[in-house]
Amino acid sequence: MDAPPDASRNPVMVRMHADDNVAVVANDGGLPAGTALPGGPVLLEAVPQAHKVALVDIAAGAPVLRYGVAIGRARAAVAAGRWVHERLLEPPPAPVLDGLPLATARAPALPALEGHTFEGYRNADGSVGTRNLLAITQTVQCVAGVVEVAAARIRSEVLPRFPNVDGVVALEHAYGCGVAIDAPGAEIPIRTLRNLARNPNFGGELLVVSLGCEKLQPARLLPPGSIALAAGEDAPDVVCLQDPAHVGFGSMVDRIVERARVHLERLDARRRETVPASELVVGVQCGGSDALSGVTANPAVGACADLLVRAGATVMFSETTEVRDGIAQLAARAASPEVAQAMLREMAWYDDYLRRGGVDRSANTTPGNKAGGLSNIVEKAMGSIVKSGSAPISGVVPPGDRATVRGLLYAATPASDFVCGTLQLAAGMNLHVFTTGRGTPYGLAACPVIKVATRTELARRWHDLMDLDAGRIASGEATVEETGWALFRLLLEVASGRRTWAERWGLHNQLVLFNPAPVT
Ligand code: CA
Repeated sequence: MDAPPDASRNPVMVRMHADDNVAVVANDGGLPAGTALPGGPVLLEAVPQAHKVALVDIAAGAPVLRYGVAIGRARAAVAAGRWVHERLLEPPPAPVLDGLPLATARAPALPALEGHTFEGYRNADGSVGTRNLLAITQTVQCVAGVVEVAAARIRSEVLPRFPNVDGVVALEHAYGCGVAIDAPGAEIPIRTLRNLARNPNFGGELLVVSLGCEKLQPARLLPPGSIALAAGEDAPDVVCLQDPAHVGFGSMVDRIVERARVHLERLDARRRETVPASELVVGVQCGGSDALSGVTANPAVGACADLLVRAGATVMFSETTEVRDGIAQLAARAASPEVAQAMLREMAWYDDYLRRGGVDRSANTTPGNKAGGLSNIVEKAMGSIVKSGSAPISGVVPPGDRATVRGLLYAATPASDFVCGTLQLAAGMNLHVFTTGRGTPYGLAACPVIKVATRTELARRWHDLMDLDAGRIASGEATVEETGWALFRLLLEVASGRRTWAERWGLHNQLVLFNPAPVT
């Protein structure tokens, strides 16, 4: 339960930048009218937690500044002490992509961070898994029901004999033959499926279930040379349901279970070994954001991202519509003009994709974001970008591709939690960090998800869903740096096998392919 607003409590306000003419209420339950803000005005009305207050009189048409950035213009005069909600704000147009300074921000060279390790599973292709999972790849949605029955049988009858294997993941997806397979953009879901099968947490074992008549034939999904095969295999291990050898449903399921046993034996023979923290491939994203996301959890993730980059690891930030408004800052932070140009290409492609759908980036914000104090996409973007920390951006991963360089990477994905998570898995993610303010029980079957709450009230109420409370930053009990370190240590523990809350409850969301191509 939220504590009732109490005028006698100390108001805790968060102002992100010296130029800001608004600050955010950090107190659980918000603050009532009449509260005197330290060094500021008296509140003229009640203001909910995570919402903005005008610190000075703001004239009609004047910019409202948060993070030192104009997040919009006042639609009417706003008196000092008033609640600045989204109806008072006129959002600015999207920044142009042309003529930006590229790779000009000389990010301070971060000193190397050495000596941090975790216990992981080394793979033949050089990647490292944080879990030891059997994945069942599927070429088409038609086989999903049969695979799920087979997977349930594998889990109950076979898996108990292989105690070193963490689980069986059926890589179900909605891709069917309605897809225009040669249309522009159609390669994105195909390469996503291909690279999903190569995720480091699947140990290099490949078991594919195909229907037989689908457009996306196994040979098109996994052409020779596109994927490393296990020792002794000269082709991917494919079970085809329309194979005339299968007489009835039972025989299909038997065949999948029989093939699974072969892969499980090899996975079971593997053991964790000590590897440097540089083998982590961490995807970061947020979902169910509020105005404290950009104050507590996301800056802590940014501090942790800097530690990971210093340790030689890979960190991916994504969510194109949520970083689009920060493109000037990001283009300047690119390690080279080529990286900046790759980022601009992805953003321009996405602008065009949205335009074809008759919308723009402002379609991103949800009713929950606004109820949580995020007035518009600019404010959300400024709070989202801080997850990337301060390191130079050393590469760009187009949607569905696998990351090939280390350091801080921009993986171009939609902001949708499920699409972003799926594409980061395809990029080779072996650990996922997810921040939330409104609260979501998000999880992925293929990879541990560490959930970070932006507010202590949420962390307390969802005590068995949230893995870390970053709300202590707003209450002054912990600094951003301390919370970043706490997250860094937690990542190493989880990478070594400690289970997240989502894993303990078996919570996971579906994989969702990003398919910009038409469906026929
Ligand atoms: Ca998201």
